[in-house]
Amino acid sequence: MKPKPENEGAKARDSRPEMKLIYNRVFLQHDTGMHPESRKRLDAFDDLPDTPITDGEPYLELVHTPHYIQKVRAACALSAHLDGDTATSPGSYDAARYAVGATIMAAESGGFALVRPPGHHAHPSRASGFCLFNNVAIATRKLAAEGKRVAIFDFDGHLGDGTSAIFYDTDKVLYWSMHQYPAYPGHGFVDEIGSGKGKGFTVNLPLPPGSGDDILLGCLNQFLPIVEQFQPDVVAVSAGFDAHQYDLLLDLRASASFFYKTGQMLRERFPNVFATLEGGYNVEEMRKCLYNFVAGINGEAVPFPEEPTSSGMRVLETYEIYVNAVIGNLRDYWKF
Ligand SMILES: [Zn+2]
Repeated sequence: MKPKPENEGAKARDSRPEMKLIYNRVFLQHDTGMHPESRKRLDAFDDLPDTPITDGEPYLELVHTPHYIQKVRAACALSAHLDGDTATSPGSYDAARYAVGATIMAAESGGFALVRPPGHHAHPSRASGFCLFNNVAIATRKLAAEGKRVAIFDFDGHLGDGTSAIFYDTDKVLYWSMHQYPAYPGHGFVDEIGSGKGKGFTVNLPLPPGSGDDILLGCLNQFLPIVEQFQPDVVAVSAGFDAHQYDLLLDLRASASFFYKTGQMLRERFPNVFATLEGGYNVEEMRKCLYNFVAGINGEAVPFPEEPTSSGMRVLETYEIYVNAVIGNLRDYWKF
């Protein structure tokens, strides 16, 4: 029998590294008690093996001040809160430093760092919104120091205000975020586009409460080309799944299939992608959304399909107003 002719298209796709989950039970040691960001979020992944994780502590100062790092360490020893929302425990410092390390490993391997605590609300000298150290920002700074051009694509349902602030005045890193507005942390509106040299390099896409797959996919189709125009060497994904319709903290209405399509769109456009976990507070749904996203990136069939959702008329009208404002504010910087 003749051998089958090689499929060139499949061969090209196969050259991309498979996105693998990077997980370790050290992330369960961050004990927040009765809290939406609890270890239960990762208990759903209990079947995964422990990956040996690089220690992220030597990299913390790429973003955080020495004083703040000491403050976090001291707070964890005492199980003290770092702010009203952000609880710690004696195991939290190790979980947080290895969350940074796992994200750096993901950046080096095209992996998905399945970590907690999350990071995108953490500022250089301030914890907030369940976040201790800014995992994605640290990994991005490390890549930038190695000469890489990085775009941060943040599809968590909240603005990553820490990440946004860290890169607000640079043109070397693009920060792109779609998020519910209004919602925590209270900003991320259309007119926040960066400052100084960084003007145009922060892209905020506010989504009205009630936004479904139609709006979310429209937003990706219309504004992901900005990330392409930036021509990144690497796309760093702040992967939060709290835009899902059954999430506990937000009022967005994404289906689980939306996250599969997001993964597919990234796969089609960008050869180097890595991700780190941010939010997602419906434990059962987060697991499905996360596996869908990774399957989309890896070009596999969708493991957990869900009926697409659509937005009401008022929601669509509000979104349209936001879209026009975003384009108006960014048209000097990007083609639409
Ligand atoms: Zn979130």
